This record gives sequence, C-alpha cells and structure tokens, in this order.
Amino acid sequence: MAMNIALDLHIHSALSPCGDSDMTPNNIVNMARLKGLDAIAVTDHNSAENVEAVMKLGYEKGIVVLPGMEVQSREEVHLLCYFACLGRVLDFQERIYVHLEGKNRPDFFGEQVIMDEKDSITGHSDRLLIGSVGLSVERIVNMAIGLGGRVVPAHVDKKTYSIISNLGFIPPDLDIKSVEVSRPGNTAGLLRQHSQLKGYRMIHSSDAHRLEDMLEREFFMEVKEKSVLGILEQL
Ligand SMILES: [Zn+2]
Ligand SMILES: [Zn+2]
Repeated sequence: MAMNIALDLHIHSALSPCGDSDMTPNNIVNMARLKGLDAIAVTDHNSAENVEAVMKLGYEKGIVVLPGMEVQSREEVHLLCYFACLGRVLDFQERIYVHLEGKNRPDFFGEQVIMDEKDSITGHSDRLLIGSVGLSVERIVNMAIGLGGRVVPAHVDKKTYSIISNLGFIPPDLDIKSVEVSRPGNTAGLLRQHSQLKGYRMIHSSDAHRLEDMLEREFFMEVKEKSVLGILEQL
C-alpha cells in the first residue's frame, strides 16, 4: 500500500570536513527522530565511511537510512549517489577513492572523523574529501547506475557546484530522473529559467552540516514501502 513519508536525503556527518563535529551518527539519528523524519541519507563528500554506523542506528531506532555519498565531479558538480545497501556504497567508495587525489589539511579544511555506532572515534580520513574526483559527471553517473544506484544532481538552484551552474543544463542522455533543490521556493523561477527541468522530479533536502539544519516533516514522497528500495525506486 502506498504511503507518504517525510525525508531528508542530504545530510553531512562529521566526516565531511565542513560538517559540524556534533554531526555524529547518534546525534543525526536522534535528531531525525525528534524531527519526525521517516527516512534520511548520509551523504558525505566523496566518502561513505560513516554510513555503516548511521545505518545500524537507524535500524535500531526505526529510521530508514539510505546509504549515500555526495561526489564532486571533475567539473565541480555535486552529485548525490544513493545505493540499495552498505556493500554497494562501499564498492562505489573504493572506485571513487582511486580517482581522488591529495591529502586533507585538518587545520585548513576541517577534521574528517570516522565513528562507530557508539560515536566512538575509530579514525580520521586523511584523503582530500573536499576536492574533486578525476571523473566526469557522465562517468560517475554510469558507475553509480552500474552498481544499482540512483544519482540526483545536488542543489541545482545554487550558483556553485551545481550541474546547472557548471554545465548549463543536464545532458539528456544521463540516466537521471530527479534533481535536488535547496529551497523549494526557488522551484518556480528555476523552471521558468530552465524549462528542461520540468522533465525531472524535484527533491528537497537540507544539505545539513549542522544538526539544527536538518529538515522537519516538510518534504514528502509517496512510496510503495517504507524502505531503502521503496525510496530508491522513486529517485
Ligand atoms: Zn553540495
Ligand atoms: Zn552537501
């Protein structure tokens, strides 16, 4: 039976150098509960090292957690990549890491903290997660789709790091059905400027780097079942 669920599919943990140190697995899942969300996704920059901990906690506390990653392409386009299970996002991560160069400078870009489901720090990523991977938008989309994932171009209404700002349009042959807008109020103007976007489903997420920025029950999606697969098939 179809149901309407409240989601926020773009949340950064403390693994993202720009993510607040309060963005621990427990805090994210507890905040999702407080805010009444049914489903969330953890989408750190070019990495998915905290997905497992958040998924475990989501499972315990009744919040669906989509395994995800926000990849920055060679063209500096942000792409939200979502997968059916932890194994797939980790396979994807391995392939992304091959094309990610440089070392993080924590004093300059911020710490990149890896945690377990108790919020204990198990390590720090020393990769330059804030940078671009040496792959085109097309390669990243095909790689994610090849692993059974779905790709949603992030914050297409922003002037930076968006597929619209950086490429000018969405290449029509890309296997993409949805785009993310950071402010739902921008949708009408965006559609007037880029009529091509009428052919895509609009998703609204928070892109939260701080707990208080996570969405409340404000963006809904109709799904056949409240599960990762139920959401994935709508993206
Ligand atoms: Zn982004
Ligand atoms: Zn983001």
